Amino acid sequence: MKVLDLQCCHGHPFEGWFASEDDFLEQKGRSLVQCPVCGDAQVVKKLSAPRLNLSGARSAPTDQAPASGNAVALAKPQDADALAAWLEMSRKLVAHTTDVGSQFAEEARKIHYGEAPERAIRGQASAKETRELLDEGIAVLPLLLPDGAKGTLQ
Ligand SMILES: [Zn+2]
Repeated sequence: MKVLDLQCCHGHPFEGWFASEDDFLEQKGRSLVQCPVCGDAQVVKKLSAPRLNLSGARSAPTDQAPASGNAVALAKPQDADALAAWLEMSRKLVAHTTDVGSQFAEEARKIHYGEAPERAIRGQASAKETRELLDEGIAVLPLLLPDGAKGTLQ
């Protein structure tokens, strides 16, 4: 099951549950995916940067909370060596974190309060959720993963 953050052409955000990405595209193609608020079928996936919660990394100062949902903590290096190193690091992050998707904020909170096993997770969170987590002293790190790192997820 795949949970997608969707948005209609009027900007209403909502979640859609699909068997797969292809299932979403197929249903969208047949105008079966509609906004629950206005019924609009011009639905697009919302862009959101994957975020990381690294257990143990508790030093993120709250004044570095991103201002927007698409804030990126890592600039894309131009240098080829730096790019390779960055890709390598991103792959390691992907390999050592559990993807909790849109459940990120909820799961990060559960881990912080000892209601879920301590582990590093990644997923999507809005700017508001990120700020709330940081306010509660939960370390989160906004991160845009390169395509090469995401590819290892499949
Ligand atoms: Zn709508």
